[in-house]
Formats: sequence, structure tokens, C-alpha cells
Amino acid sequence: MRDVLAPESARRRLLVDRFAQVASLAGYDEMTPPLVEDLDVFRRVGDATDVVTKEMYDFVDRDGSRIALRPEMTAGVVRAFVQHNPLVPWKVWYSGTNFRHERPQKGRYRMFDQLGVEVLGVDDPDLDVEVIALAADFFGNVGLNDVTLLVNSLGEQGDRQAYTEALRAYFESNIDGLSEASRETLKRNPLRVLDSKRGEDRALVAAAPNIDEFLSDAARGHFDRVLAGLDSLDIAYERTPRLVRGLDYYRRTTFEFTSGALDSAQNAVGGGGRYDGLSEAMGGSPTDGIGFALGVDRILLAADAEGAFPAPESSVDTFVVDMVDGTHALAITHELRRAGISSERRFGGGSVKAQMRSADRSGARFALIVGEDEVAEGTVTLRPMRGIASDGEQRRIPRHSIAGEIRGLMDSEHRGDQ
Ligand code: AMP
Repeated sequence: MRDVLAPESARRRLLVDRFAQVASLAGYDEMTPPLVEDLDVFRRVGDATDVVTKEMYDFVDRDGSRIALRPEMTAGVVRAFVQHNPLVPWKVWYSGTNFRHERPQKGRYRMFDQLGVEVLGVDDPDLDVEVIALAADFFGNVGLNDVTLLVNSLGEQGDRQAYTEALRAYFESNIDGLSEASRETLKRNPLRVLDSKRGEDRALVAAAPNIDEFLSDAARGHFDRVLAGLDSLDIAYERTPRLVRGLDYYRRTTFEFTSGALDSAQNAVGGGGRYDGLSEAMGGSPTDGIGFALGVDRILLAADAEGAFPAPESSVDTFVVDMVDGTHALAITHELRRAGISSERRFGGGSVKAQMRSADRSGARFALIVGEDEVAEGTVTLRPMRGIASDGEQRRIPRHSIAGEIRGLMDSEHRGDQ
């Protein structure tokens, strides 16, 4: 588990704000599922996945119920959909922290943040395109250029089952060529063997049956329309028949975004797909669903590697230097903050030199200096420190019009910037 300090904390907040903007432009509302749910909610997602069987932080609550920290957010969102029965299409976005008991390494943590969207109640393949385009636009907005979109279709439920059985038969008849770990995976979920990155498995995985031979006409038609939609929006993609994704509930369209700026073992910056069938698994009526989750931690690692999305500068507009008794600093910072102008001061007073040093370190654009003379005159000394105004002379301004003066200077600086 990790602490998040400034400036990283500010960067994360900015990233969520950006995502909120992109999502709300496309008509998505924010939704926040709880951090803990009944263990069963996550189990229904599928008990053939490591996320559910090996990595969950589950425990017995004081009243004896089995609960778990969420390992991902889709299950909670779909559980909420079934519980509240909102009008469809239900388009939501979320951001939040998830927990998985994984082996921590760079880009893989036990506590990590995700951003995502889910849509329930729409079968139209054009929605798949909208959802994929939203993620692609977000990466562009953040300044990530080295991101590749991988897409696949797992077919309808029957197609997926037939494919799974074909894979099982194929791998079982070649069991000697499989790694020990993949033999275990095969027992639980043959599809996941395709995910194996082990050298020993590579040849067998490469020659495994292809999903394309198992797609029904309906699944093929849906997928063709998705690909045509991506083409029409100029969104580049790679068709990846081996892309199966971790969770059991995926059907039809699945996709993943990988970053060329990250180590290959942890290079997925997000992924998602259709999960028609999950609503039923949660006890609701059959409802089509689609969504994605993006990994905030990995997006920021990729941004570091690409020199994109720097942490916002933390600086204040004004710093009050009080050479009298501190009461002026107290009053003026308060007054300015109420007027929407950020303001800092040094606690415990100190010499003018010490206070000016603090003012400099704060990154303030203006210092407001109050001495005995200013108090007698009903003024403060305004000294430009940074920005366009910084070569201006210091001057005294009336004590009662500080906020108006500062606002005017900041506005003209803003206009000058453009
Ligand atoms: P998943 O739900 O496993 O498909 O995860 C979606 C995205 O969340 C992945 O593409 C990663 O970017 C991110 N992610 C998943 N697990 C972790 C983790 N343990 N640490 C950091 N990021 C993760």
C-alpha cells in the first residue's frame, strides 16, 4: 500500500478532472460504488479468475458476513444497476481505489486507482465504438502518444463456450508442451492459457485455434460494425485474436490499451469490453453491458516515460508579509481567500528577510507587505514577484481594495498571456 503525497496527489486529481470532463462531454454521470461489498458480488464476476480466487482482501465482518475490498469496480456498478433499476441507457463513469493481493512490482500494486465507464442497456455496436473512442480520446488529452489499441471479439456466449472447449481439447492433447503454471490455468480456464507470457508456452499458444472460426454470424456482424466505426473515426487498432481479458463475464467486443513506454509485463494501461450476462449473474434481468477500466498508476508511469502530463505547479497568488504583529497577515489572508484569491503567510512571524524567503519559496506572484507605516496610512505594499508583472515596481495600495487590485492584475496578466 502506498501514500500519495504532493505533487503526485495534485497530478492524480487533475487526471480525474480531465477524465470527468471527457466523460461528461459524452453524457456520462459519475457513480461511486462502495469500497466493500458482500464477497458474493465479486464472486459472481467469475470464480475462475485470479483476481477473485487468489487476490481478494476478503474477511469476516463483525456480524459474521463475508465481505471484501473491491478488486475492481464493474461488479459494484452492475450490482448497483440491478438494485436501483435506473432508466436505460445508464451511462456512468467512476474513479476510485481497488485492492488486489498481488506480488507488488513496478506498475503492479496492491492498492491502485482506476478510472472507468460502464453503460447498461444498449446492444448497439456503435456504443462499443463510443466507449473505445472515449478512452482513446482521454489518452490523447493526457498527452500519451505511444498507446496501442488491441481489439477482439469473444463471440456470443455459445461461441465463447465452443471456443473454450476447443482450446481445452487442443491444450490437453499437447499437455507435455505446456508450462506447469499453464497446466493449472487450463483446469480452471482454458482461455486464460492464451494470456501466458512464458517462453515455454509460446509455440503452443501461437498455434492454438483461432476465435474467428467460432464466431456466429451475429457476433461477426457486430464486430465488423465496431471495426468500421473505429475506422470512420480514424482510431487505429490492432486486431488481436488472442486477447481474452481476465474476467469471465466478457462477451463479444473486448479491448485493451497498451503503452509502448512501459515494460511489457505491465504495459496494459486499460482494458474493457462487453459483459452481456453480468447483470443476470447479479440477479437482475438480462441486460447488455459494456465498459472499461484504466489504470491511473500506469497512466502516470507512461506519462513520466513520455514526458507528458507534468504535475501542476503548486503556488499561491499572494503571500502576506506582516512586520507588525501577525494580526494583519491573519486578516488579509482570510479576506483574500474569501474573495477566491489564494494566499499564504508565515506563521510565527520572523524577520522581514525570513518572511520574504518564505514568500519566494511559496511561488507567490505578489507579496503584500504590512509595516507600521502602511498601518498608519491604511495601505499595504504590493510587490510583484513572478509572472509578467514581476518587473513592475512595488507600490502602496489602499488596504480596503487589495482583493480588487490583485484580481485586476491577475486578469490583465491572463489576457496578456493569450
Ligand atoms: P483489469 O481490471 O485487471 O482489466 O485492470 C484494468 C487496468 O487497471 C489495467 O489495464 C491496469 O492498467 C490497471 N491495473 C490492474 N491491476 C493493477 C495493479 N495491481 N496495479 C496497478 N494497476 C493495475
